[in-house]
Amino acid sequence: MRINLNWDRRKFFGAIAAAVGSLAAPRPLFSSNKPARSAGTVTGLGHTGNPYEELGVTTVINCEGTMTMLGGSLPHPELEAVMSMAGRHFVSIPELEVAAGKRIAEMLKLPEGYSAIVTSGAAAAIQSGLAGILTGSNEALIRQLPDLTGMKSEVIIQKSHRNPFDHQLRSTGIKLIEIETRDELSQTLNDRTAMMHFTNFANAAGQIKVDEWVKLSKRYSIPCMIDAAADTPPVSHLWDYANMGYDLITFSGGKAIRGPQCAGLLIGRSDLVANALLNNSPYEDTIGRSQKVGKEEILGMVKALELYLNEDHDALTAEWQQRLQGISQEITKIPGVSTSYFTPDIANHVPHMQIGWNSRVTLTPQEASKLLRAGTPSIVMGSGENHQGLVMNSFMLQPGEDKIVAEKLSQVLRAHSA
Ligand SMILES: *Cc1c(COP(=O)(O)O)cnc(C)c1O
Repeated sequence: MRINLNWDRRKFFGAIAAAVGSLAAPRPLFSSNKPARSAGTVTGLGHTGNPYEELGVTTVINCEGTMTMLGGSLPHPELEAVMSMAGRHFVSIPELEVAAGKRIAEMLKLPEGYSAIVTSGAAAAIQSGLAGILTGSNEALIRQLPDLTGMKSEVIIQKSHRNPFDHQLRSTGIKLIEIETRDELSQTLNDRTAMMHFTNFANAAGQIKVDEWVKLSKRYSIPCMIDAAADTPPVSHLWDYANMGYDLITFSGGKAIRGPQCAGLLIGRSDLVANALLNNSPYEDTIGRSQKVGKEEILGMVKALELYLNEDHDALTAEWQQRLQGISQEITKIPGVSTSYFTPDIANHVPHMQIGWNSRVTLTPQEASKLLRAGTPSIVMGSGENHQGLVMNSFMLQPGEDKIVAEKLSQVLRAHSA
């Protein structure tokens, strides 16, 4: 079964143009069911259907996956309509956040006592979640952050779990305390300890694994957070960590879930989620005011989850693997070129292909990657930190792009074949 993939780039840009057109169209206030105007009626920016090219910015074929640097993912086309409807009314944002959280908890069948808010991304969810733990609902403390006077001030993390996104923890003013062993953990706990943090993609690297970390946090009565930003698929991760007992869980909306690019989820114990919201936009004198999430993103995120949950995930994975095999079939016709497949355990848990070659191709993987990037159309494909050769995945490819990748890759490799 093929699902939700039968749209192409032109239709996608057409959908954007239509949404833009409908927002710009004069219409009575609050009429939400006026048909969108067609792409043809856009004048000025967007008149060609590709406003990026109009600005002189090159669009790329994405073989790397859900990289925020490349724009994350392409939202489900169905989001355009709902986000456009969202822009036609005023509404209380806190009321909308609570209602969205209720719907999300129902859709994900979260455990009793769990709820959610939509944030501007997983990074925002990390900061707001911790801020809520530090301040509770105390208004003075909320205004005071990142001055921690009168609050707890330490978060425990395994040394191997440190990563750039722990900046969002540090931005609250807390100090990260690094530990490696269970003994170090128990010795490090004190009355300044606010939270235990777990970085899901680092699960294999740390001595204490994801299930034990949450058990230890219960034993010591310290709230625990897990950053699972890029860890769907599998879809079950959306509820697995809540079922394990994690108090707060963060996801990106704009990665594989294909929600609005500037959206994410903070899922967790209702009291902690409510306190996180108090530390976030739209409230003004808060640490999270700079991570505004709009009514459009909030509704878009709920819609994206609805669509994501209804997808046939096995069929999608099969489709992604098929695309890789099609590319492999073409490029392995070149003498000396070989391919193999792997799927990372966690984060970007989708089929990947490693492309290698022997000395008959006189090109380094880095050079090949550069040539692909400089070509027309421009193709982004990593040369792989831990792998020989090029590495690609296909889950962000749009229909037809796999054929282009096969052709361009063949050209580059053949041009440097002995
Ligand atoms: C992408 C990512 C984030 C940030 O997510 P945003 O939704 O872009 O804010 C945080 N942590 C990890 C591990 C990520 O991969």
